[in-house]
Amino acid sequence: MTIHRRRFVKLVSSGVLAGLTLPLPAASSGDSLRSSLPRIGGESTALRSRGGILLGGRGDFSRLRGDVGIYTARGGTIGWLVNEEGIAVVDAQFPDTATTFLAELPGRANRALDVLINTHHHADHTAGNEVFRGETRGIVAHRRARELHEASGGDRPPRGLADTAFDGQWRIRIGGEQVVARHLGPAHTGGDCIVRFEQANVIHMGDLVFNRAYPFIDRDSGASILGWLEILETVASEADADTLFIFGHAREGYGVTGDRDDVLAQADFFSALLGEAGRAIREGRSRDQLMAVESIPGFPDHRPVAQRLSAGLALATAYDELTGAG
Ligand SMILES: [Zn+2]
Repeated sequence: MTIHRRRFVKLVSSGVLAGLTLPLPAASSGDSLRSSLPRIGGESTALRSRGGILLGGRGDFSRLRGDVGIYTARGGTIGWLVNEEGIAVVDAQFPDTATTFLAELPGRANRALDVLINTHHHADHTAGNEVFRGETRGIVAHRRARELHEASGGDRPPRGLADTAFDGQWRIRIGGEQVVARHLGPAHTGGDCIVRFEQANVIHMGDLVFNRAYPFIDRDSGASILGWLEILETVASEADADTLFIFGHAREGYGVTGDRDDVLAQADFFSALLGEAGRAIREGRSRDQLMAVESIPGFPDHRPVAQRLSAGLALATAYDELTGAG
Protein backbone atom coordinates (compact mmCIF):
# COMPACT_ATOMS: atom_id res chain seq x y z
CA MET A 1 0.00 0.00 0.00
CA THR A 2 2.96 2.26 0.53
CA ILE A 3 3.84 1.91 -3.13
CA HIS A 4 0.30 2.85 -4.04
CA ARG A 5 0.50 5.93 -1.84
CA ARG A 6 3.85 7.00 -3.28
CA ARG A 7 2.53 6.59 -6.82
CA PHE A 8 -0.42 8.69 -5.83
CA VAL A 9 1.85 11.44 -4.56
CA LYS A 10 3.81 11.39 -7.80
CA LEU A 11 0.55 11.65 -9.74
CA VAL A 12 -0.43 14.68 -7.73
CA SER A 13 3.00 16.19 -8.21
CA SER A 14 2.90 15.56 -11.93
CA GLY A 15 -0.58 17.00 -12.06
CA VAL A 16 0.68 20.20 -10.57
CA LEU A 17 3.45 20.47 -13.14
CA ALA A 18 1.15 19.61 -16.03
CA GLY A 19 -1.57 22.01 -15.02
CA LEU A 20 -3.52 19.19 -13.37
CA THR A 21 -4.30 17.50 -16.66
CA LEU A 22 -3.46 14.02 -15.42
CA PRO A 23 -6.35 12.03 -14.05
CA LEU A 24 -6.10 11.74 -10.29
CA PRO A 25 -7.33 8.57 -8.60
CA ALA A 26 -11.08 8.87 -8.29
CA ALA A 27 -11.44 7.57 -4.79
CA SER A 28 -9.79 9.30 -1.91
CA SER A 29 -7.52 6.64 -0.57
CA GLY A 30 -8.43 7.27 3.09
CA ASP A 31 -10.23 4.48 4.83
CA SER A 32 -9.55 1.79 2.28
CA LEU A 33 -5.84 2.26 2.77
CA ARG A 34 -6.11 2.46 6.51
CA SER A 35 -8.26 -0.60 6.94
CA SER A 36 -5.96 -2.68 4.77
CA LEU A 37 -2.92 -1.94 6.88
CA PRO A 38 -2.47 -4.47 9.67
CA ARG A 39 -2.46 -3.24 13.23
CA ILE A 40 1.01 -3.68 14.59
CA GLY A 41 1.20 -5.63 17.82
CA GLY A 42 -2.55 -5.94 18.18
CA GLU A 43 -3.98 -3.21 20.37
CA SER A 44 -3.15 0.39 19.63
CA THR A 45 -0.50 1.85 21.90
CA ALA A 46 -2.41 5.13 22.14
CA LEU A 47 -2.87 6.39 25.66
CA ARG A 48 -6.13 7.78 26.88
CA SER A 49 -5.76 11.53 27.00
CA ARG A 50 -6.72 11.63 30.67
CA GLY A 51 -4.46 8.76 31.64
CA GLY A 52 -1.46 9.10 33.87
CA ILE A 53 -1.10 11.00 37.09
CA LEU A 54 -3.71 13.68 37.60
CA LEU A 55 -2.37 16.79 39.25
CA GLY A 56 -5.31 18.79 40.50
CA GLY A 57 -6.71 19.24 37.01
CA ARG A 58 -3.61 21.20 36.02
CA GLY A 59 -2.22 18.62 33.67
CA ASP A 60 -1.20 15.01 33.31
CA PHE A 61 2.22 13.41 33.46
CA SER A 62 2.46 9.99 31.80
CA ARG A 63 5.55 7.83 31.55
CA LEU A 64 5.81 6.23 28.11
CA ARG A 65 8.91 4.06 28.13
CA GLY A 66 12.09 4.06 30.16
CA ASP A 67 12.92 7.59 31.24
CA VAL A 68 10.71 9.25 28.63
CA GLY A 69 7.20 10.62 29.14
CA ILE A 70 4.68 13.29 28.21
CA TYR A 71 2.85 16.15 29.88
CA THR A 72 -0.52 17.32 28.62
CA ALA A 73 -2.34 20.41 29.85
CA ARG A 74 -3.02 23.16 27.31
CA GLY A 75 -1.30 23.51 23.95
CA GLY A 76 1.09 21.14 22.23
CA THR A 77 2.08 17.97 24.08
CA ILE A 78 5.33 18.28 26.04
CA GLY A 79 7.82 15.40 25.87
CA TRP A 80 10.42 14.80 28.58
CA LEU A 81 13.46 12.71 29.44
CA VAL A 82 14.56 12.55 33.06
CA ASN A 83 17.42 10.29 34.15
CA GLU A 84 20.18 10.41 36.73
CA GLU A 85 22.53 12.32 34.44
CA GLY A 86 20.17 14.99 33.14
CA ILE A 87 16.90 16.32 31.75
CA ALA A 88 15.70 17.17 28.23
CA VAL A 89 12.28 18.64 27.39
CA VAL A 90 10.50 19.01 24.05
CA ASP A 91 8.16 22.01 23.72
CA ALA A 92 6.98 24.45 26.34
CA GLN A 93 3.21 25.13 26.03
CA PHE A 94 2.21 28.36 27.80
CA PRO A 95 3.72 30.24 30.77
CA ASP A 96 1.16 28.95 33.29
CA THR A 97 1.35 25.30 32.26
CA ALA A 98 5.13 25.53 31.81
CA THR A 99 5.37 26.72 35.41
CA THR A 100 3.33 23.75 36.63
CA PHE A 101 5.34 21.38 34.46
CA LEU A 102 8.68 22.59 35.80
CA ALA A 103 7.47 22.41 39.40
CA GLU A 104 5.98 18.93 39.13
CA LEU A 105 8.24 17.11 36.64
CA PRO A 106 8.81 13.66 38.20
CA GLY A 107 12.42 13.05 39.20
CA ARG A 108 13.60 16.61 38.54
CA ALA A 109 14.65 17.22 42.16
CA ASN A 110 15.39 20.93 41.63
CA ARG A 111 18.00 20.21 38.96
CA ALA A 112 18.55 22.56 36.01
CA LEU A 113 17.45 21.19 32.64
CA ASP A 114 20.11 20.37 30.05
CA VAL A 115 17.99 21.50 27.14
CA LEU A 116 14.55 22.60 25.94
CA ILE A 117 13.95 21.77 22.27
CA ASN A 118 11.15 23.51 20.34
CA THR A 119 9.59 21.43 17.54
CA HIS A 120 8.48 24.68 15.81
CA HIS A 121 7.66 28.31 16.60
CA HIS A 122 3.89 28.29 17.25
CA ALA A 123 2.89 29.91 20.52
CA ASP A 124 1.28 26.81 22.00
CA HIS A 125 4.74 25.19 21.83
CA THR A 126 6.97 28.19 22.64
CA ALA A 127 5.08 30.72 24.78
CA GLY A 128 6.35 28.89 27.86
CA ASN A 129 9.98 29.33 26.77
CA GLU A 130 10.36 32.46 28.88
CA VAL A 131 9.52 30.43 32.00
CA PHE A 132 12.08 27.77 31.00
CA ARG A 133 14.78 30.40 30.34
CA GLY A 134 16.16 30.52 33.87
CA GLU A 135 15.77 26.77 34.42
CA THR A 136 17.60 25.32 31.42
CA ARG A 137 21.16 25.48 30.14
CA GLY A 138 19.90 26.03 26.61
CA ILE A 139 16.95 26.35 24.24
CA VAL A 140 17.32 24.73 20.82
CA ALA A 141 15.26 25.13 17.64
CA HIS A 142 15.64 24.79 13.89
CA ARG A 143 17.09 27.96 12.35
CA ARG A 144 13.87 28.77 10.48
CA ALA A 145 11.75 28.12 13.59
CA ARG A 146 13.87 30.61 15.51
CA GLU A 147 13.44 33.20 12.75
CA LEU A 148 9.67 32.67 12.66
CA HIS A 149 9.47 32.82 16.45
CA GLU A 150 11.40 36.10 16.48
CA ALA A 151 9.22 37.56 13.71
CA SER A 152 6.06 36.58 15.61
CA GLY A 153 6.95 39.11 18.29
CA GLY A 154 6.83 42.09 15.93
CA ASP A 155 8.75 45.00 17.44
CA ARG A 156 9.25 43.10 20.70
CA PRO A 157 11.00 39.80 20.08
CA PRO A 158 9.83 37.05 22.46
CA ARG A 159 11.98 36.63 25.56
CA GLY A 160 12.24 32.90 25.11
CA LEU A 161 14.01 32.76 21.76
CA ALA A 162 16.24 29.73 21.19
CA ASP A 163 19.91 30.38 21.88
CA THR A 164 21.03 27.51 19.66
CA ALA A 165 19.71 27.15 16.09
CA PHE A 166 20.52 24.23 13.78
CA ASP A 167 19.92 23.34 10.15
CA GLY A 168 19.92 19.59 9.56
CA GLN A 169 20.12 17.95 12.94
CA TRP A 170 21.23 18.52 16.51
CA ARG A 171 21.95 15.93 19.19
CA ILE A 172 22.81 15.58 22.85
CA ARG A 173 23.70 12.56 24.96
CA ILE A 174 22.16 12.50 28.43
CA GLY A 175 23.29 9.48 30.41
CA GLY A 176 22.34 6.40 28.43
CA GLU A 177 19.98 8.29 26.12
CA GLN A 178 20.74 9.94 22.79
CA VAL A 179 18.36 12.77 21.92
CA VAL A 180 18.30 13.77 18.25
CA ALA A 181 16.37 16.67 16.69
CA ARG A 182 15.98 16.49 12.89
CA HIS A 183 14.60 18.93 10.36
CA LEU A 184 13.24 17.00 7.38
CA GLY A 185 11.98 19.90 5.24
CA PRO A 186 8.89 22.12 5.13
CA ALA A 187 5.73 20.47 6.52
CA HIS A 188 3.46 22.02 9.18
CA THR A 189 5.69 25.13 8.99
CA GLY A 190 8.99 25.85 7.29
CA GLY A 191 10.94 25.11 10.47
CA ASP A 192 9.69 21.87 12.03
CA CYS A 193 11.83 19.27 13.69
CA ILE A 194 11.08 15.86 15.14
CA VAL A 195 12.90 14.68 18.25
CA ARG A 196 13.95 11.08 18.73
CA PHE A 197 14.91 9.46 22.01
CA GLU A 198 16.97 6.70 20.44
CA GLN A 199 17.36 4.31 23.36
CA ALA A 200 13.71 4.54 24.37
CA ASN A 201 12.63 4.36 20.71
CA VAL A 202 10.23 7.27 21.16
CA ILE A 203 9.77 10.07 18.60
CA HIS A 204 8.14 13.43 19.35
CA MET A 205 6.49 14.50 16.10
CA GLY A 206 5.59 18.05 17.16
CA ASP A 207 2.63 19.12 15.05
CA LEU A 208 3.44 16.77 12.17
CA VAL A 209 0.56 14.67 13.49
CA PHE A 210 -2.83 16.05 14.50
CA ASN A 211 -4.24 12.70 15.53
CA ARG A 212 -7.58 12.32 13.72
CA ALA A 213 -8.06 16.10 13.68
CA TYR A 214 -8.02 18.65 10.86
CA PRO A 215 -4.46 19.96 10.86
CA PHE A 216 -3.30 23.54 10.83
CA ILE A 217 -1.25 24.01 7.65
CA ASP A 218 0.70 27.23 8.15
CA ARG A 219 1.41 28.36 4.58
CA ASP A 220 2.36 31.84 5.77
CA SER A 221 5.22 30.17 7.66
CA GLY A 222 6.34 28.02 4.74
CA ALA A 223 4.21 24.88 5.18
CA SER A 224 4.02 22.26 2.42
CA ILE A 225 1.39 19.52 2.37
CA LEU A 226 3.32 17.50 -0.20
CA GLY A 227 6.50 17.84 1.83
CA TRP A 228 4.60 16.96 5.00
CA LEU A 229 3.15 13.81 3.43
CA GLU A 230 6.54 12.61 2.22
CA ILE A 231 8.16 13.29 5.60
CA LEU A 232 5.48 11.24 7.37
CA GLU A 233 6.14 8.34 5.01
CA THR A 234 9.88 8.61 5.57
CA VAL A 235 9.51 8.69 9.34
CA ALA A 236 7.09 5.74 9.32
CA SER A 237 9.40 3.72 7.07
CA GLU A 238 12.34 4.34 9.41
CA ALA A 239 10.33 3.36 12.49
CA ASP A 240 9.71 -0.17 13.70
CA ALA A 241 6.72 -1.86 15.27
CA ASP A 242 7.84 -0.81 18.77
CA THR A 243 8.40 2.87 18.02
CA LEU A 244 6.20 5.08 20.14
CA PHE A 245 5.19 8.47 18.76
CA ILE A 246 4.15 11.64 20.56
CA PHE A 247 1.75 13.95 18.73
CA GLY A 248 1.29 17.68 19.22
CA HIS A 249 -2.49 17.41 19.20
CA ALA A 250 -5.33 14.89 19.03
CA ARG A 251 -9.08 15.11 18.68
CA GLU A 252 -11.09 14.25 21.77
CA GLY A 253 -11.24 10.50 22.26
CA TYR A 254 -7.91 9.87 20.55
CA GLY A 255 -4.49 9.79 22.16
CA VAL A 256 -1.58 12.19 21.82
CA THR A 257 0.61 9.12 21.48
CA GLY A 258 0.44 6.27 19.01
CA ASP A 259 2.34 4.01 16.65
CA ARG A 260 3.46 4.20 13.03
CA ASP A 261 -0.02 3.30 11.81
CA ASP A 262 -1.21 6.59 13.27
CA VAL A 263 1.59 8.40 11.44
CA LEU A 264 0.56 6.72 8.19
CA ALA A 265 -3.08 7.65 8.88
CA GLN A 266 -1.98 11.30 8.83
CA ALA A 267 -0.16 10.67 5.54
CA ASP A 268 -3.28 9.08 4.07
CA PHE A 269 -5.32 12.09 5.11
CA PHE A 270 -2.99 14.37 3.15
CA SER A 271 -3.17 12.08 0.10
CA ALA A 272 -6.95 12.37 0.22
CA LEU A 273 -6.83 16.11 0.85
CA LEU A 274 -4.60 16.74 -2.18
CA GLY A 275 -6.72 14.40 -4.29
CA GLU A 276 -9.91 16.27 -3.33
CA ALA A 277 -8.32 19.66 -3.96
CA GLY A 278 -6.96 18.52 -7.32
CA ARG A 279 -10.38 17.24 -8.35
CA ALA A 280 -12.03 20.48 -7.27
CA ILE A 281 -9.57 22.49 -9.36
CA ARG A 282 -10.23 20.34 -12.44
CA GLU A 283 -13.96 20.76 -11.91
CA GLY A 284 -13.59 24.52 -11.67
CA ARG A 285 -14.83 24.82 -8.09
CA SER A 286 -13.95 27.97 -6.20
CA ARG A 287 -11.88 28.33 -3.05
CA ASP A 288 -14.98 29.62 -1.24
CA GLN A 289 -16.85 26.46 -2.19
CA LEU A 290 -14.07 24.39 -0.68
CA MET A 291 -14.11 26.44 2.52
CA ALA A 292 -17.72 25.34 3.00
CA VAL A 293 -16.89 21.61 2.82
CA GLU A 294 -17.60 19.93 6.17
CA SER A 295 -15.64 16.69 5.95
CA ILE A 296 -13.05 14.95 3.81
CA PRO A 297 -14.36 11.79 2.09
CA GLY A 298 -12.89 8.69 3.67
CA PHE A 299 -12.13 10.44 6.98
CA PRO A 300 -15.46 10.73 8.82
CA ASP A 301 -13.81 10.50 12.27
CA HIS A 302 -11.80 13.68 11.89
CA ARG A 303 -12.84 16.67 13.99
CA PRO A 304 -11.54 20.19 14.61
CA VAL A 305 -9.33 20.72 17.67
CA ALA A 306 -10.10 24.43 17.37
CA GLN A 307 -13.10 26.00 15.72
CA ARG A 308 -11.17 27.60 12.90
CA LEU A 309 -9.35 24.37 11.99
CA SER A 310 -12.11 23.01 9.80
CA ALA A 311 -12.12 20.48 6.98
CA GLY A 312 -12.89 23.38 4.64
CA LEU A 313 -9.85 25.37 5.71
CA ALA A 314 -7.58 22.34 5.23
CA LEU A 315 -9.06 21.76 1.76
CA ALA A 316 -8.79 25.42 0.79
CA THR A 317 -5.16 25.41 1.92
CA ALA A 318 -4.48 22.38 -0.27
CA TYR A 319 -6.15 24.31 -3.12
CA ASP A 320 -3.78 27.23 -2.47
CA GLU A 321 -0.77 24.92 -2.52
CA LEU A 322 -1.76 23.24 -5.79
CA THR A 323 -2.60 26.53 -7.53
CA GLY A 324 0.39 28.38 -6.07
CA ALA A 325 -1.91 30.98 -4.57
CA GLY A 326 -0.92 33.26 -1.72
ZN1 LIG B 1 1.83 24.17 15.38
